[in-house]
Amino acid sequence: MRMTVLASGSKGNSTVISSSRTRVLVDAGLSCRELMKRMLFAGEDPVSLDAILITHEHQDHVAGLGVLARKLGIPVYFTEGTHRAWVRMVRPRTTMSYAQWLDHVQREKEARANAAAAAADLPETGLCDSMSAAAERSSDPDCGEPDEPEVTAKSSAKADPTYLPAVEYFHSGRQFSIGDIEITPFTIPHDAADPCGFVFSSEGIRMALATDLGYMPPNVKAALKRIDVLLLESNHDLEMLKDGPYPWSVKQRVLSRVGHLSNLATAEFLERDYDGSAAYIVLGHLSESNNAPELARLSAEQAMMNHPTLLGNRILLAEQTAPLAPISL
Ligand SMILES: [Zn+2]
Ligand SMILES: [Zn+2]
Repeated sequence: MRMTVLASGSKGNSTVISSSRTRVLVDAGLSCRELMKRMLFAGEDPVSLDAILITHEHQDHVAGLGVLARKLGIPVYFTEGTHRAWVRMVRPRTTMSYAQWLDHVQREKEARANAAAAAADLPETGLCDSMSAAAERSSDPDCGEPDEPEVTAKSSAKADPTYLPAVEYFHSGRQFSIGDIEITPFTIPHDAADPCGFVFSSEGIRMALATDLGYMPPNVKAALKRIDVLLLESNHDLEMLKDGPYPWSVKQRVLSRVGHLSNLATAEFLERDYDGSAAYIVLGHLSESNNAPELARLSAEQAMMNHPTLLGNRILLAEQTAPLAPISL
């Protein structure tokens, strides 16, 4: 299995998880163009992605979602709560009743059925043409919405920024599979509609992703057992946040039980609750204003030093501006 962190931080989050047969993108928090560019740079061909999974609807996790999913024609996995929150965010309205939401879901289904029927009408060579066109696009990332025949069939969808080629729902705590990757979503405490982290398992390797959480509740501690590669939030240094430029209301939000993990909270988890099984711990979602990579690293390393069984764990720092080298196990 392989984890490639394309970006991590409050300006955008996205990570590729792949097995030998399956490749999924977790979050799409950069523009479609930038995501394609970073995937190619990191050696992860965007055309071979099987699905996009979304942790929660905050902009730094979904900025490029609609355009990328339509461009690649792949399904998006959400919880229903996150999907609904995303739709409301992309198409702002003062209110959307549950009846209107159900109506929206029904219309999306019909639009997808029409698009599928139109695609089935294309001559057989059409598929190869569109595949080679997709391959071409992947070498020159172009995220405009092109005027291809199958797209014109989706003309009603094209005008709707919430249209997705396919939507699948999952529930936190309930395992599901995409290809040969087993995925267990777990609830995290964060100020979004229905936020979650994920454990991915394939080929005997387990990888997990836990960022955007205000504290470490027991269900998250339990989920992060026997993990081989762990992407874990280390958002802010408490002193830097307190003295930093954020308005008081934002500082309170970050510090709250539904905000973000501080370096100290992450260190406490590593020292007291973590089982030490990971070959790599990737510290992520570092704040650019309220943290410094070396502070985050030092804090985690000190926690490890107090716990000699953890010294085999390598600590890496995920970055906002460039992808990390792929981590393969
Ligand atoms: Zn968030
Ligand atoms: Zn975030």
